[in-house]
Amino acid sequence: MILAVTMNPSVDISYPLHEFKLDAVNRVETVRKTAGGKGLNVARVIAQMGEKVLATGVLGGTIGDYIVQELNKSDISNDFLNIERESRNCIAILHEGMQTEILESGPTLTKEEGADFLGKFEDLLSKVSLVTISGSLPKGLPADYYQQMIEISQRKGIPVILDSSGDPLRKALLYKEKPFAIKPNITELSQLLGMKVDSGIRHLQQALDHELFQGIEWIVVSMASEGAFVRIGAADYRVTIPKIEVVNPVGSGDATVAGLAVALNRNQPATAVLKTAMTTGMLNTIEAGTGSINMTKFNQYFDLVKVEKI
Ligand code: ADP
Repeated sequence: MILAVTMNPSVDISYPLHEFKLDAVNRVETVRKTAGGKGLNVARVIAQMGEKVLATGVLGGTIGDYIVQELNKSDISNDFLNIERESRNCIAILHEGMQTEILESGPTLTKEEGADFLGKFEDLLSKVSLVTISGSLPKGLPADYYQQMIEISQRKGIPVILDSSGDPLRKALLYKEKPFAIKPNITELSQLLGMKVDSGIRHLQQALDHELFQGIEWIVVSMASEGAFVRIGAADYRVTIPKIEVVNPVGSGDATVAGLAVALNRNQPATAVLKTAMTTGMLNTIEAGTGSINMTKFNQYFDLVKVEKI
C-alpha cells in the first residue's frame, strides 16, 4: 500500500460564469466541488490505477468532513489527523476563457498538532511500502517539517517521493536523509537553484550536478509537453512523449507522481517506471477533471513514450 500525504488539503470549488462582473452580483448555476490538494490528486490517481492507497494529512471543521465524505465516496481509504481549525476552500472562477483563482492559505497548526501528526505518520508507516508527500506546508509548521518526515521514514526503511516547492523542498534536500525521489518541474528547479534552468540536456545535467541533489536516487524533472529529463543514480535519461490534445493540464504533475509511485512500488524496471509516470501525466491532461485519469487508454499512450539513455 502507498501512503499519500497532503498537509494542506482543500475543497476546490469551480464556478463557471459566462461573464465575470466586478463589483456586481454574479449568479452561478453549476458548482463543482472536489476534494483537492496535490496529495489527494495523487491518491485518486493511484486508486484509479488499481493500487491500494491510504490518504493522510490534517483536516479540520466541516470542510474537513466534506473531504472525508468525498474520499469515502471514491473508496479511497483515509486516516487524517483532526485539527482545531477549519480546512480551506480554494475557488476557481472560470470565465471568458480565463481562470481567476481565490486561494485561502489554510489553517494555522499548533505545535502540538504538528507533533501529533508526526506520531500518526510514524504509526501509519507500518502499513505501507512507499510514501508520497505533495504540496505546501500549512502555516504553523517549521519549514523543515518534510525533512522530519523523511528522517522518520528512512529510519523505518520506507522510501519517500517528495513533490513540493520553495522552502519546504529546499530544506528537505539540505540534510543527510534524502527523499528517494523528487519531481520538480522546470520552474521549481529554477527556484530551487536561484537561476533560470532551460530544457537543454547539458543545462539540465549541470543543474542536477548541484550538491543539493547528491544522494537522491530518482530525480524526475517534468517538462509538460516536452516530457521529462531524469537522473537515476549516475544515469541520465531523456523521456519524450507524443503530441496530444490537452483538455485540462492541472494536476498532471500529481498524476505523474502517482504513476511513479505505483510503478516503483511494483518494482518495475526503470524504463517501465518512467513510461508509466509520463503516461499517467498525459492521461490527466486529456480529462476534464483535475487529478483524474481513464485507465482504459493507458496502453495506447504508454506505447508512444520513448526513453533514451544519454
Ligand atoms: P506540473 O503539473 O508539476 O507542472 P508538468 O506540467 O511537467 O508538471 O506535467 C507533468 C507531466 O504531465 C509531463 O511530464 C507530461 O507527461 C504530462 N503533460 C503535462 N502537460 C502536458 C502537455 N501539454 N502535453 C502532453 N503531456 C503533458
